[in-house]
Amino acid sequence: MEMKKTYGLVEAGGTKFVCAVASSPEDLREEVRFPTTEPAETLGRVVEYFQAAQKKWGRLEGLGIGCFGPVDLDKNSPTWGFVTATPKAGWADTNVAGFLSHSLELPVVFDTDVNGAALGEHLWGAGAGLDNLVYLTVGTGIGGGVLSGGRLVHGLVHPELGHFLLSKDPQDTFTGSCPYHGSCAEGLASGPSLEKRWGKKAQDLPPEHPAWDLEAAYLAQALLAFMTCFSPQKIILGGGVMEQLQLFPKIHKEVLRLNNGYIRSPSLTPQGIVNYIVPPSLGNRAGILGALALTST
Ligand code: ADP
Ligand code: ZN
Repeated sequence: MEMKKTYGLVEAGGTKFVCAVASSPEDLREEVRFPTTEPAETLGRVVEYFQAAQKKWGRLEGLGIGCFGPVDLDKNSPTWGFVTATPKAGWADTNVAGFLSHSLELPVVFDTDVNGAALGEHLWGAGAGLDNLVYLTVGTGIGGGVLSGGRLVHGLVHPELGHFLLSKDPQDTFTGSCPYHGSCAEGLASGPSLEKRWGKKAQDLPPEHPAWDLEAAYLAQALLAFMTCFSPQKIILGGGVMEQLQLFPKIHKEVLRLNNGYIRSPSLTPQGIVNYIVPPSLGNRAGILGALALTST
């Protein structure tokens, strides 16, 4: 009988880190989470966790790491596995994959958190059976993973779906919070941009607040762009802001309006779109199961 291989998993987020050990999605063991503080302290805690885990469960096969970005994924680059240009204090130019691999003497599979989530949803979730998916998270930042022809898209670096430039609503006086682009999707529609525009945390804006119509309009613009570029068979929207489920019908309506009948598919009808732009079915396990999914690549 073949024994299943057991991996260490890291969901490395800008707000929190989650670590676990698993050989399959049904076998998530000892999940721990801690806040993302400065790199040495945070990565030190990851090392301690896996040292203890290996005393308990035996030697791990390797680590799967889904990391907030931007990251360097070029295997030939001296900074492969680094978080690169992040505005997150202290984390620019941090060696995440190499440090963990070296400290624990384990091989590492490393990719963006959202590429991991896209693959996890493809293997075990809302994208099961579909080889062309976009997974977008709308949280502290906006980021997206792309599965195309059954493979995660990498390239010059990796997709940066949150930094797509949007047309601003003429009535929106907020200039946009992205330090690089101002009014890109992340600059206009991330959780912090909602807070800056409306003067209240996104989770404290009531469901009937006009913020959500504007948010849906901006996200719909971005989604139509991803549909024209990648032709995904499903778009999965996760992250803290998407917990506002009233956004989904607003986005559905606005995507159909913007598409204006151009891209033709049963998925782009009022009935079909409900199952085309959907929440993640792995829910709050999307990140950690994304890290497990990466170990299969
Ligand atoms: P991260 O981006 O760090 O992984 P989240 O996806 O939870 O974490 O995103 C955090 C952002 O989402 C914050 O800006 C927060 O205001 C916003 N947010 C969290 N929960 C909600 C909610 N229920 N409704 C609206 N916005 C939320
Ligand atoms: Zn930007």
